[in-house]
Amino acid sequence: MTDWRMPLSDVSFDEAEERAALRVLRGGWLSTGPETRAFEEEFAAFVGVKHAVAVANGTAALHLALVVVGVGASDEVVQPATNFVAAANMTVAIGASPVFADIVALDEPTIDPEEIARRLSPRTRAVVAMHYGGHLARMREIRALCDAHGIALIEDACHALGARCVDESAPELDGRAAGSLGDVACFSFFANKNLTTGEGGMITTERNDIAERVRLLRSHGMTTLSWQRHQGHASSYDVLAHGFNYRFDEIRASIGRVQLAKLEENNRRRAELARVYRDQLRDAHGWIVPFADRGDESAHHLMVAVAPDAETRRETVEALNDSRIQTSLHYPCIADFAAFKERVGAGAKDSASRSAVETLANEDLSRSREFARRAITLPMFPTMTEAQVGEVCSVIVGAKVKA
Ligand SMILES: *Cc1c(COP(=O)(O)O)cnc(C)c1O
Repeated sequence: MTDWRMPLSDVSFDEAEERAALRVLRGGWLSTGPETRAFEEEFAAFVGVKHAVAVANGTAALHLALVVVGVGASDEVVQPATNFVAAANMTVAIGASPVFADIVALDEPTIDPEEIARRLSPRTRAVVAMHYGGHLARMREIRALCDAHGIALIEDACHALGARCVDESAPELDGRAAGSLGDVACFSFFANKNLTTGEGGMITTERNDIAERVRLLRSHGMTTLSWQRHQGHASSYDVLAHGFNYRFDEIRASIGRVQLAKLEENNRRRAELARVYRDQLRDAHGWIVPFADRGDESAHHLMVAVAPDAETRRETVEALNDSRIQTSLHYPCIADFAAFKERVGAGAKDSASRSAVETLANEDLSRSREFARRAITLPMFPTMTEAQVGEVCSVIVGAKVKA
């Protein structure tokens, strides 16, 4: 393991998380119970939605979201090519086909509504929009498109807890948070996310039917939880649907509640650091900082800069690596991963069952591919200092001068 002087992300835990976890350990009830319920209620209030349901992780949240909006075998799900692979993998796990759509532009790497429209087919059952780096996708256009075609809209909001839409010309969206803008939304509490419990996830929705279904499928489709049986409220159960074990637990819920209380302050700190990054990268000729002029309140999950070309990216990553500053790439184009290429390639066993639209979609992703060649994810975490940001930026500006 490399000894990074500056990691890509870092957790911000203190005695409050320790006390919370200890309180639950000493209480003796560890599986889904009152602590999880309290976390869900506080989370729903924060996002401004009726329901929040805690689940095992963000991928489980996406799996359940796809299932509950009715995606089934041989359906298509239009989704961004520039995303973590979870939504695409869960689409395939259901037996459906991911249809990848390109991003808007290098300075706006969220799914392009026009590219979604081009990829709709009679088999499209859902659209996934991901709020890249904490910046909202074009939800007004995407919502309108989904409504017009009767298609479900799933938010992959794993980067975006605390992000808010600012758009006075759209009163129905203005002020609303990520997680309240689609039919159902998914969050992750993985260790590098703005709110972490180590592993964990949450589903939010306004819709009673979706919340009820998610709660049922989270625990094997069983009509009662062990907590209810423990309390004497029930002694048996029926199984109403074929579900999963995607339950959350009390230790993580207690940590999550503390982290949620700190979130706004942490996100404010991220916003300040992003401003410092932006100011300093103005001197880096030919570099693009995505979402620079966006009015929305971002969650600033990632700090990403796009190099003038692939060669400059390579040199800059090397220079940062030499300074023991960690970088990453969010994300390679999903359609170019071996497992996804195989689905539509000549070798695909069941290629006859793949629709023309899936093949087309995977071939026409030039902006996502260009983004993957040139984007660098830079360190960003609430305990980072302005001096550290300055150090990263001077390496970037210096690498460019050398070239
Ligand atoms: C983290 C993440 C996921 C997956 O969440 P896990 O909790 O790791 O399963 C999915 N989508 C995006 C955009 C993410 O960042």
